[in-house]
Amino acid sequence: MSFKVIKFGGSNLQVATDFSRCAEIVSGYEAPCVIVLSAFFKVTDHLKEAAMQASESGDFPRIFIEEFSDACFEQVKVNIDDDLLVDQTGKELQDLLDKLTRLFRGVHSIGELPPTIYDTILSYGERISAVIFNGVLRSKNLESSLCLPEDFGLVTDGEFGAASIRLKESSKKIKGHFTGKQYYVVPGFYGISDEGKTTLLGRGGTDYSAAALAYLLDAESLDVWKDVAGFQTGDPKIVRNPGTIDFLSYNEAAELSYFGARILHPRTVEPLQPKNIPVRIFNINSPSKKPGTVIGPDPGGEFTGPKSITFSRNFSVLKLKGPGVGIKPGVLARVAGIMDSAGVNISSVFTSQTAICFLLQGSDLKKARKAIKVQAPALISDVEAISDIALVALVGEGITRKKGVAAKAFQAVAAENINVEIIAAGASTAAVYFVVKESDCERAVSATHGHFYTECLNQDSYQHSDLTSVVL
Ligand code: ASP
Ligand code: MG
Repeated sequence: MSFKVIKFGGSNLQVATDFSRCAEIVSGYEAPCVIVLSAFFKVTDHLKEAAMQASESGDFPRIFIEEFSDACFEQVKVNIDDDLLVDQTGKELQDLLDKLTRLFRGVHSIGELPPTIYDTILSYGERISAVIFNGVLRSKNLESSLCLPEDFGLVTDGEFGAASIRLKESSKKIKGHFTGKQYYVVPGFYGISDEGKTTLLGRGGTDYSAAALAYLLDAESLDVWKDVAGFQTGDPKIVRNPGTIDFLSYNEAAELSYFGARILHPRTVEPLQPKNIPVRIFNINSPSKKPGTVIGPDPGGEFTGPKSITFSRNFSVLKLKGPGVGIKPGVLARVAGIMDSAGVNISSVFTSQTAICFLLQGSDLKKARKAIKVQAPALISDVEAISDIALVALVGEGITRKKGVAAKAFQAVAAENINVEIIAAGASTAAVYFVVKESDCERAVSATHGHFYTECLNQDSYQHSDLTSVVL
């Protein structure tokens, strides 16, 4: 029996009738299928705000709960005709809303938001979507049931907020579930630790849940529905006439997501790659049933130019200065150890004779700076934290093996009078990146994109403007 895994995200769930629209799409798939759902648009953000409000300001988020409940019941009413199913789904929904309210009460009365409660509260967006959607599918006469990560065993490493899925353990537990030729609805975004705690998979984590399910069920494909065509050569808000990319290798998709493209969670391809399961990205607004972008194994072949230029403002740099810090044995290991014990994830390191630069997630900069200031080796005379930077990445399999690509990008950026602060390549064969001042980011991206791509005449194809000159 061969499964397809289908994922709908918040961008597919923006108005009440969207559940019916997604159900219509599901009915075009032959069972067995697993449908993995995100929370309704913005609901995760609102749950987060309400939880913070309850713990910090002493206000019980009564208005949020009321409005949220009304919106959920409206979705049931609008999408389900059958009275019995309205009743049944309404009861399941009310049960979840009651539990959520009790969680808010707990947080409100203790005035604290422990990570375990935070993760549980935020998982309610997905839990609620899944209950409603299961009712909607059944009302359209599709044989469907709800399957929860705690029931079929989507096991995580237990790290709150950003857990990893343990595929081996999960694959033992999943046996005996998903055995029917029917539809299964699964809430995304969370798994369960060994202790039975709800652990979130990081923001946007429903893609990662869906990928893990595709792996666990040896699915034929993972179909991700979006409200855009797929990956593009550049961000349409910044570059002129970006094209849609037909095909990306797993590495290319992972690098693009890591460096800022907001199409997929960066860990999505991880479970799929060992089994060569393709990801197909579909646009819910496009009547054609053709995927915009397909992601799969690298077919090999010559590098012919970067496939996409992406950027991120979420990175920061911590510069540790001191005579000889870059070459004195042991200094790098020591400071990396300090970062590690402070819970800071290092994205990249560059060293010189007199400085060590760490590329960090923007949200980790303060923590890292504090830890280093307290524990730094005597050799470090100055610590500089730079937060107003942006990282621009050029992605394409084999990019680091081709001479001159980076040089071309820098020429384009230099022509705009933009100073490149840091350049890096080599950690992956599919990405080259450079760091500029945040205020220069958009111009740098647009100049680089403009350099590598000519204007596209249609959304489905793009051409490199000067493939030959890419190779110096
Ligand atoms: N609802 C979650 C979020 O907003 C997970 C997801 O959308 O994938 O991050
Ligand atoms: Mg999402």
